Amino acid sequence: MPELPEVEHAARVLRAAIAGHRIVRVRVLHPALRRALPPSAQRRLTGRVVQDVVRRGKHQVLHLDNGTALVAHFRMTGDWAVGRVDEARERYARAELEVDDGTRVTLADPRALATLTLAADPADVLPVLGPEPDDASLTPASLAASLARRRGAIKPALLDQRVIAGVGNIYAAEALWRARIDPRTPARSLGAARLKRLIAAIRAVLRRAPAGRYQADVAVSRWNVYDREGLTCHRCGGTVKRIVQAGRSTYYCPKCQT
Ligand SMILES: [Zn+2]
Repeated sequence: MPELPEVEHAARVLRAAIAGHRIVRVRVLHPALRRALPPSAQRRLTGRVVQDVVRRGKHQVLHLDNGTALVAHFRMTGDWAVGRVDEARERYARAELEVDDGTRVTLADPRALATLTLAADPADVLPVLGPEPDDASLTPASLAASLARRRGAIKPALLDQRVIAGVGNIYAAEALWRARIDPRTPARSLGAARLKRLIAAIRAVLRRAPAGRYQADVAVSRWNVYDREGLTCHRCGGTVKRIVQAGRSTYYCPKCQT
């Protein structure tokens, strides 16, 4: 599943490919997307200039020259493939946007769960999102305030996009390991010093992320705890454990995360 660094990378790729260009052709190739982006919406997209592509959480917002926006979410396996209009169609192509210089951007998605939504205003379709991890407004005090209202453990709280936008299952586990915080710790019990460590850890793990197309086999070797059940903790020699919290696997080291 693409996490924030991969979505950031994808938004950069898309921006470089089509920002400043006019959409000359839209093709929707999968029934699920055809429901979300019917012919009337495809017609409204055609002829518009893509002014900018902005990432917000794990959403990508394509701002169009008439004030509307196309909002993309990759879900499990979506990604952009950039090519030329005369090239063979991508495998798993679900939608294609062609622009005025002959570039074709394809939404390629084996599981076909990615979404494209045309919105008069992106706020109409974006959920309520907390600050971005690198946003200066994310401070120990602001994080304490948003966690104060919550019951439950810190790990599921970090996955709530209203707390911090874009933190997913892998980076939540890695950040808690780095900050030496037990993922089962009640979210609202964390004090300022631990929250400061946690914010620094989230920023550090996201900075070190691969930020490319998600190659699970390459990435796994980089993790300290994620997907390392039963293996040795790089920091303390303890054994990495897997538990399930709110239906998601959590990996952590019981010896050095307290
Ligand atoms: Zn350890």
